[in-house]
Amino acid sequence: MSKTISILGATGSIGRQTLDVAEQLGLTVTALTANSNAERLEDQVRRFRPRLAVLTDEAAAKDLAVRLADTGTKVLGGPEALTEAAVCPEADTVVTAVVGMVGLKPTLAAIRERKRIALANKETLVCAGQLVMDTAEQYSAEIVPVDSEHSAIFQCVQGCRDRGEIRRLILTCSGGPFYGQTAEEVAGRTKADALRHPNWTMGPKITVDCATLMNKGLEVIEAMRLYRLPLEQVSVVIHRQSIVHSLVEYRDGAILAQLGTPDMRLPIRYAMTWPDRAESPLEPLDLLSCPPLTFARPDRETFPCLRLAEEAAQEGGTACAILNGANEEAVGLFLAEKIGFSDIPRLVAEARAAVTVVRDPSLEDILAADRAARRAVLDLV
Ligand code: NDP
Ligand code: MG
Repeated sequence: MSKTISILGATGSIGRQTLDVAEQLGLTVTALTANSNAERLEDQVRRFRPRLAVLTDEAAAKDLAVRLADTGTKVLGGPEALTEAAVCPEADTVVTAVVGMVGLKPTLAAIRERKRIALANKETLVCAGQLVMDTAEQYSAEIVPVDSEHSAIFQCVQGCRDRGEIRRLILTCSGGPFYGQTAEEVAGRTKADALRHPNWTMGPKITVDCATLMNKGLEVIEAMRLYRLPLEQVSVVIHRQSIVHSLVEYRDGAILAQLGTPDMRLPIRYAMTWPDRAESPLEPLDLLSCPPLTFARPDRETFPCLRLAEEAAQEGGTACAILNGANEEAVGLFLAEKIGFSDIPRLVAEARAAVTVVRDPSLEDILAADRAARRAVLDLV
């Protein structure tokens, strides 16, 4: 079980919920980071008294240092300081809750310090999954997923001694706010429409990814990397209620699932307490009052991002880093209201076609693929 944690991305949706869980479990918080939100980080520092607070935005870090002058918390600024928070010697666990590929370098640094990684930042595994998992194996660092589907799978494989016994993983997908709509209807959707997720309240980037189904595509890749399985053994099923969080089908035909009300504090808590469980104040799922559970096939024609991600997963090399970099850039443009909803899959597909895939990539190849994909999207726009 974790005792002392460092949170990368503390001011975000996962970061804030992690602090709630830390408070409930009585964990010590030793480092907190954010990008530029000095006001919220100041509140968190006053509440949890960490040794270190980091803002990657230098000007915001200066502001934070002034705000926290009366406290004993050290304030650092700049992207390199994110890694300082990741390798903080007191922390046994690093919660990676930043959004996007920026999480990669600090995650690798924390792994090399043999910390438990409570991993929410899926983009890191999508871009450099092989490298991250190999490094974790080399340093015997534990990677415990926070993403609800992967946490469900993690819970369903506890006690499975031979991963060869797994026939396939089944990821559930809410379908997002535009489920059941035609391609024409979906094409006209706005930022406000996309930010209205039916079951979860999350940061803006992942909420848009849920609407395009890119989130599920990224999660397919995340599952392949975490459990070292080929694409053929990871499937997706639409489940509108978000109650069955994912399933594992074993060779003998047994299917294990994890169920619960949609609340990220449960997977966050399990990433802290694993391999144990601790009493939680959350209301458990009431089977007698929960809605009927339904399952359906995803529509890869209306939501091509899922197919694009599966194709990148199949291709391997830097294909997933290119997919992710292009998607991060395109979603940023959509959130800035510079492009339409259906431009996201179009730009990702065009960037994938424009950037050459490198086989057996090094970290530098992965970072270069990410930069090239982002540039390709900007050139196309
Ligand atoms: P949010 O947008 O709510 O929070 C992002 C956090 O990262 C904030 O603390 C933000 O700081 C910080 N941040 C943003 N950009 C940078 C940057 N360039 N450098 C350093 N820090 C940065 O995101 P979520 O909490 O929703 O998601 C975090 C991660 O967890 C994502 O990878 C997402 O896919 C994954 N995830 C989220 C789930 C959820 O329920 N929210 C569920 C499953 C996975 P600031 O506030 O200053 O901008
Ligand atoms: Mg998820």
